[in-house]
Amino acid sequence: PLVYLNGELTPLSEAKIPVLDRGFIFGDGVYEVIPVYNRKMFRAKQHMARLFRSLDAIRIPNPHTEEEWMALIDKVTSAHPADTQLVYMQVTRGVAKRAHAFPADATPTVFIMTNAFTPPDAATVDNGVRCVTTDDLRWQRCDIKSISLLGNVLAAQYAAENDALEAIQFRDGLLTEGGSSNIWIVSNGAVYGPPKSTLILEGIRYGLLEELCAACNIPFGSRAITRDEVFAADEVLMTSAGREVLAVTVIDGKQIGTGKSGPVFRKLYAAYQDAKRA
Ligand code: PMP
Repeated sequence: PLVYLNGELTPLSEAKIPVLDRGFIFGDGVYEVIPVYNRKMFRAKQHMARLFRSLDAIRIPNPHTEEEWMALIDKVTSAHPADTQLVYMQVTRGVAKRAHAFPADATPTVFIMTNAFTPPDAATVDNGVRCVTTDDLRWQRCDIKSISLLGNVLAAQYAAENDALEAIQFRDGLLTEGGSSNIWIVSNGAVYGPPKSTLILEGIRYGLLEELCAACNIPFGSRAITRDEVFAADEVLMTSAGREVLAVTVIDGKQIGTGKSGPVFRKLYAAYQDAKRA
């Protein structure tokens, strides 16, 4: 597959960056993951806006206009044979002598790759997925889509070692999010998520789920959610670019609701599939 690196399309095996890139040395960069369905980016504007917010938040000068970004992504996705893809893009502060504070004159490193994407299969959608819970060990700017992901990596590994798809994180007893997803509860027919804050990444599916709820006449709200409320929920949902929307049916070995994907999930799943095709 061809990837984009600093102005050029090259085979992945030939894409190389200097070891002093601040992404490698400090994890000093941000990223995005964008689904492409039938060769069309899904929610492209929202993903671009989030990339721009992340760059602003860590004061990396945005190297491209939105039009340029879209054209670059288009080049990479057009070169891939699959119609449905997941695009990964990353911007670091660039290459400089190793010192923590910002270098005076670094040029951002821009990398874009894409892979064929297979959305969750029917069995996963029907049965739901298993999760485990863990303390949220991350920093206090989880709203930035930073490539520094050690907390998320450890959470994912904990899930993997416990036969779970995802680790659901709690900070001071309150739900934050999954290691790489947003988590929702369904209570009395309404969907609730934790409030947008610096302690969670606002998934592009945060706004989308709110829209889909409105379209399906499902009440939607955000509020602080305790551990007990998660376990007592009628349904628990997970959203992310790669998982779309999934039902969480077992947490820490305990069944949630009926233990099967529930009615609110099924409505929202159908609405998501419609939105993808629109
Ligand atoms: N939270 C975290 C920590 C994530 O890594 C992701 C996946 N990017 C999400 C939430 C979900 O965001 P999105 O809906 O944009 O994929």
